[in-house]
Amino acid sequence: MDDPSLADARERDAADPLSEVRDRFFLPDDLYMDGNSLGLLSADAEAALDRVVEEWRALAIRGWTDADPEWFSYGERLGARVAPLVGAREEEVVVANSTTVNIHTLVGTFYDPSRGSKIVVDALDFPTDHYAIRAQLRSRGVDPEDALRVVESRDGRTVAREDVLDAIDDDVGMVFLPSVLYRSGQLFDIEAITEAAHDAGALAGFDLAHSVGVVPHSLSEVGVDFAVWCHYKYLNAGPGALAGLYVNERHFGVTPHLAGWWGNDKETQFDMAMTYDPAPHAGAFQVGTVPVLAAAPLDGALDVLDDAGGVEVAREKSLALTDYLVDLVDARLPECEIGTPRAHEERGGHVAVEHPEADRVSEALRDRGVVVDYRPPNVVRVCPAPLYTRFEDVWRVIDRLETVLDERLYEDYSVGGGVT
Ligand SMILES: *Cc1c(COP(=O)(O)O)cnc(C)c1O
Repeated sequence: MDDPSLADARERDAADPLSEVRDRFFLPDDLYMDGNSLGLLSADAEAALDRVVEEWRALAIRGWTDADPEWFSYGERLGARVAPLVGAREEEVVVANSTTVNIHTLVGTFYDPSRGSKIVVDALDFPTDHYAIRAQLRSRGVDPEDALRVVESRDGRTVAREDVLDAIDDDVGMVFLPSVLYRSGQLFDIEAITEAAHDAGALAGFDLAHSVGVVPHSLSEVGVDFAVWCHYKYLNAGPGALAGLYVNERHFGVTPHLAGWWGNDKETQFDMAMTYDPAPHAGAFQVGTVPVLAAAPLDGALDVLDDAGGVEVAREKSLALTDYLVDLVDARLPECEIGTPRAHEERGGHVAVEHPEADRVSEALRDRGVVVDYRPPNVVRVCPAPLYTRFEDVWRVIDRLETVLDERLYEDYSVGGGVT
């Protein structure tokens, strides 16, 4: 790289159009590189939460209809706000449930062995995705060992595009893959995978947990069938915040696998009929009463992203930050490897810095004011979330990492100190 100095990092910050957005967040003293596990609280998210608490105090039951905005349609309204981030039509998105529950209901709804009995997944997925899919298969009397077609990784980090495409044939009824692998940060080609699935007569679903808010998507245009994601990572909506889901409009009217009164058509919900009348849009996939307190912070968090210029602007800054991080590792840390693909079109928002002592190195960093996480066997996962991370922060993280390695400070820690 041209200039690995702190002064250069500061110049980059001075030229950064997002530098003021950072002031809307409550920033810890530590260098926070974990925004892909839990994004930070903003004053806006806090105010949105305070508002519903106040409405609860003042309005009680009337909040469902008289709060501003009313609670009754909170999930649909937030869905409409999130829809542009994933490139969907407003009615194709709802904010509801948790990511794992959304996988259960969507895979349960759309798994149709008459299209093909196999479900394509990959070996590096986030485990909960496989747990949910396996449970859905078992509930249908299908042995997951028979039905899951797991695309293996050749290098333990990434999944080769051609291996994914080769796995999709006429026996496949569904492809369910992540947008971004949670460990290495590899970004999949959603368009090519969806096209291959459709060519084979299969449906294409995606887990966008590691990309929503940092990588733009165009789900409707590409024709993706369904997708899930959470809002507590890059979207900063708080621990366990309500999740999101997308269902392409061509599937409107199906009966969701997990039926519940909150997915009923709003027009007839309070008729209290014993038979379920699903909403004619993605809202049908809600299950129980919208947890308003777990939904509200997203409202404020989305204001921050909107004011920053939207997800395209966040993506641009994110790529600049991760490029910078990769360049600094190359220039200063010869004993580390980058486990994340370098091409922009194959990279999400975080970087896997690999070192054989990654476990102890991560602990040593945490003790020195750098919040990263360790992912076995050898990854220090570093996420410079674009809305609140400066180039100077990245510089300081690499500087401290260099000290920990050069002075072998990690030797003071024991292996197995903990995955956080
Ligand atoms: C974070 C994450 C989840 C989390 O699921 P929850 O139901 O919110 O606990 C699921 N899948 C992927 C790929 C993730 O990155």
